[in-house]
Amino acid sequence: MSTTLEQTLVAAPEVRQTQMLIGGKWCDSVSGKTFQTVNPATEEVIADVAEGDAADIDLAAKAARKALENGPWSRMDARDRGRLINKLADLLEDNFDELSALETLDNGKPISDARAADLPLVIDCLRYYAGWADKIHGETIPVRGNYFTYTRREPVGVCGQIIPWNFPMLMTAWKWGPALAAGCTIVMKPAEQTPLTCLRMAELAQEAGIPDGVINVVPGFGPTAGAAAVKHPGIDKIAFTGEHLTAQIIMADAAQTLKRLTFELGGKSPNVIFNDADLEAAVAGTEFGLFFNQGQCCCAGSRVFVQESIRDEFIERIVSRAAERKLGNPFDTSTAQGPQIDQTQLDKILSYIDKGREAGAACLTGGNRFGDKGYFVEPTIFADVTDDMDIAKNEIFGPVMSILSFKDESEIIERANNTFYGLAAAVWTRDVGKAHRYAKSVRAGTVWVNCYDVFDAGAPFGGFKMSGIGRELGAAALNNYTELKTVTMSLD
Ligand code: NDP
Repeated sequence: MSTTLEQTLVAAPEVRQTQMLIGGKWCDSVSGKTFQTVNPATEEVIADVAEGDAADIDLAAKAARKALENGPWSRMDARDRGRLINKLADLLEDNFDELSALETLDNGKPISDARAADLPLVIDCLRYYAGWADKIHGETIPVRGNYFTYTRREPVGVCGQIIPWNFPMLMTAWKWGPALAAGCTIVMKPAEQTPLTCLRMAELAQEAGIPDGVINVVPGFGPTAGAAAVKHPGIDKIAFTGEHLTAQIIMADAAQTLKRLTFELGGKSPNVIFNDADLEAAVAGTEFGLFFNQGQCCCAGSRVFVQESIRDEFIERIVSRAAERKLGNPFDTSTAQGPQIDQTQLDKILSYIDKGREAGAACLTGGNRFGDKGYFVEPTIFADVTDDMDIAKNEIFGPVMSILSFKDESEIIERANNTFYGLAAAVWTRDVGKAHRYAKSVRAGTVWVNCYDVFDAGAPFGGFKMSGIGRELGAAALNNYTELKTVTMSLD
């Protein structure tokens, strides 16, 4: 990592919370076990964190049930719930510098990204759902006969929320926002690699006045703590973000209790560039769409389809941009790319790079680990990729772009849809008709036209096919957290 004087180095924050939160009390795990969370940029241990398992999940589920049914939360006016969610957003704003630095420490993402993307989106998401709290209502229905029929939308209950490590705070906000607005209570399991910001957010939720037991956080591992939440009969719903293979295990484990399930899973998103596109904008958007967050995005534009007539120029420009990306200390405000999350992900990414080379794709830049400390991977671009190669089919979840070429519009939809994923897609063209034809035909939950990775708390996000079930964000996410009740009263 470079250490020139021009850099602005942000200080690493103090770690304030490593215990678990159950029923409003910070505590060690029942077993007394802890696990280490590691700084991915240095491979040094940051802290030992309480390691929850089934016993802790059971306590958390009971605390959440009590808060749901008997505590002040259950009696609170909806508007006051909204006020508390807004208060939490205020406290996140007040602690912006600490939280963004803590996210960088635990996750490795550049501090400039944590400040420009993660924290603002987190705060906006909570404020958006604070506004919903008193606007979740049923309908009156004109039924036959002398009856008055209306519906109520009630909280689904105790929600188990299991999140990954790529956007730890943002995934927390996407889960907490609609759940709290709907009046649910929460048993959260953050990812084992990145528990720290979720714990700190829970501390701030307490400070905001969210009552004891409404938010419980149990750090730990998936097969123990996560699976225990999925199987627990006192938990009504599981919201999960992660890999589709994990979702399959969760679905099977949830069958016994018929839990409500929502999944936000992976992708192999097609990013299509037609020859009439604004090339500079397309190159910049393609770089951002793949390399942002070290390529660790479920919606990464990892299959880049470029029309043949602009292929060479596009490749020249994107390769030069990728080669210029500054890797290094994520606390340096000028760093564009930090480390991958851990050794497992580093090894996985490097093995895909090997597979790309073996399959005959041309590695035009990158292709190696960067440095020997920290889990850094060079921004990597493969050209001459074909649809059947592993690197074109599987989610790599790293800074590895595959460039494929196409002749004309007639072939692109079939090729873009030739995947079991369906999370996101993008198209770059000045032809409005072409853009809308693509947007209509591509099987993906989100389509970006002449842009990439534009997120808004009000815009639903989620997957077709094996990229998910249900939608996060927007009014749509409230459906995940409410049950519909029909009440019919005789008017005789
Ligand atoms: P996982 O899907 O395994 O992990 C996501 C969360 O699920 C973590 O909190 C994890 O716990 C938990 N979990 C794991 N197993 C179970 C289980 N049996 N029951 C309940 N919860 C469980 O993803 P990984 O972190 O292992 O990453 C593997 C791959 O998944 C990546 O390479 C990437 O391709 C994809 N991925 C996709 C993401 C997305 O946003 N769609 C995000 C992250 C990864 P633990 O902390 O112990 O792992």
